[in-house]
Amino acid sequence: MSAIQAAPARDRLRIAIQKNGRLAEPARALLSACGLSWRESRDKLFCYGESLPVDLLLVRDDDIPGLIADGVCDLGIVGRNELDEQGAARVQAGLAPAFHALRGLGFGQCRLMLAVPDEWEWQGPAQLSGTRIATSYPAILKDWLAARAIDAQVVELSGSVEIAPRLGTADLICDLVSSGATLRANQLKPVETLLDSEAVLAGAVRSPDDARGALMAMLLRRLDGVVQVQDRKLLMFRAEQANVPALEKLLADAEPLVRLPADEGALRLQTMCPGPLTWQRMEELERAGAQQLMVLSVERSLA
Ligand code: ATP
Ligand code: ZN
Repeated sequence: MSAIQAAPARDRLRIAIQKNGRLAEPARALLSACGLSWRESRDKLFCYGESLPVDLLLVRDDDIPGLIADGVCDLGIVGRNELDEQGAARVQAGLAPAFHALRGLGFGQCRLMLAVPDEWEWQGPAQLSGTRIATSYPAILKDWLAARAIDAQVVELSGSVEIAPRLGTADLICDLVSSGATLRANQLKPVETLLDSEAVLAGAVRSPDDARGALMAMLLRRLDGVVQVQDRKLLMFRAEQANVPALEKLLADAEPLVRLPADEGALRLQTMCPGPLTWQRMEELERAGAQQLMVLSVERSLA
């Protein structure tokens, strides 16, 4: 008999998200926007899906890739930094890839960066040979160093990486940076980016071939319909025919204008804009002849 047993067929999908922390709320909000709702359990570690057979498991972010690898969960919302770190660690340990990122979700942005003491004069990665680098991302860092043939010592720390240079346990650090305030407070400056990270939807390399497959496909389609329109705005206005070419020029980044006949030979125009529409931009359009300008947020779409 084969040592590898097929996972038992399940008809409910299980998604792991962070219980507390930076990704917890946005992950829940995104799944809610996809039409999911849950009956909360009292311990709040497991939330039973009500609107669809999709349950939530609330865990530490570090546990999410492993839960997917073990087949305990089908999907997870986790930082690309965490997913890549555990993926790289698996490869370094000679294990087969078990999970991958299915979609970028547009929140939880940060960068994994090398940061050196302020007084260092940064000349480039070659300078790192013989140094000690403190990090919670040893696998990504080892790959990065190996790709550049740099012989540095990786000092693995599970937290408070930024104080290691002051404590003398390392010469520099490799850590997550968003605003850079923590680095500045510790007299460090960022010098190299190893990874641009954001929250991702992660799934198993082998997707299930039972009822969960169809659920997953539906969820991904809904997710795309929410994530892809996140920053988009629907712009509507009225204009005289003669002003339309000038307005079109001002809206070069938007989709082609939809034209509908309006009163007195004028037009009602409508277009989808990719980014935010500032007051300044609206006033500019107004000066070029746009009237009754209206900006609407887009909630969801089905492509
Ligand atoms: P847990 O208790 O779940 O282990 P944690 O302390 O490891 O929590 P958080 O600090 O909540 O995790 O960060 C979760 C994720 O948020 C990170 O893995 C990263 O993808 C993202 N993130 C965004 N900005 C930052 C930042 N400035 N510092 C750390 N993580 C950030
Ligand atoms: Zn964590």
